[in-house]
Amino acid sequence: MTSTLPNDNIRNLDDQFTNKLISEIIRDRIRKSGTRFSANDNISNFINPGELEILEKEVASRVKDLLRSLIIDVENDHNTQETAERVSKMYLNEVFKGRYHKQPKVTSFPNDKNLDEIYTVGPITVRSACSHHLVPILGDCWIGIKPGNKVIGLSKFARVADWVFSRPHIQEEAVMILADEIEKLCEPKGLGIIVKAQHYCMKWRGVKEPNTSMINSVVRGDFRHDLSLKQEFFELVKQQSVNNNY
Ligand SMILES: [Zn+2]
Repeated sequence: MTSTLPNDNIRNLDDQFTNKLISEIIRDRIRKSGTRFSANDNISNFINPGELEILEKEVASRVKDLLRSLIIDVENDHNTQETAERVSKMYLNEVFKGRYHKQPKVTSFPNDKNLDEIYTVGPITVRSACSHHLVPILGDCWIGIKPGNKVIGLSKFARVADWVFSRPHIQEEAVMILADEIEKLCEPKGLGIIVKAQHYCMKWRGVKEPNTSMINSVVRGDFRHDLSLKQEFFELVKQQSVNNNY
């Protein structure tokens, strides 16, 4: 396909001989490595320093084309003159930062005291967007841990959840990906995650059902095999879901 983009500042400076767009260069790298690059995958390992800024310009140029196709007068409408640049920045650095930026640094510590009682963290606010329409998914997440050999700070769960959810998703997969990341970080003996979220896909468009939410969970390790532990997890989460001020 021949590109219609202006041959100015959205081409990779290092690749002026091939004249490829930065998105094409990054995609080629990913394909060469045989890695998946679905909407909910993190691709930061394939983006070199300085390239995200070039990608930001390319995406802005594409969003401007989208607005033009929607027959919005981006040249004269003062409200939308810089919308393309804002949307590009928002996608790459805010709402979908979990695709383009590396995982926040999480240090784990050895479980010296051999803690083995379960604990839960939540509610942690999670914000995402559906992969199908790119409209918001907003919700709460609870994480339960039966510690293994390593422990991480409580606030780190919120940071990792934010990073994982800041991608286009379907809720079922988001919870699985978060569970995988937490297992990698602290290797718990048991892990449970519950997410309750509102889907603007259903509220704002489609069936326009404003009060429906979706709840799903994943349990791993001892939470899966030990029924009483699993019940304890759900009971603790129930207590954290009650609205109280402390
Ligand atoms: Zn949707």
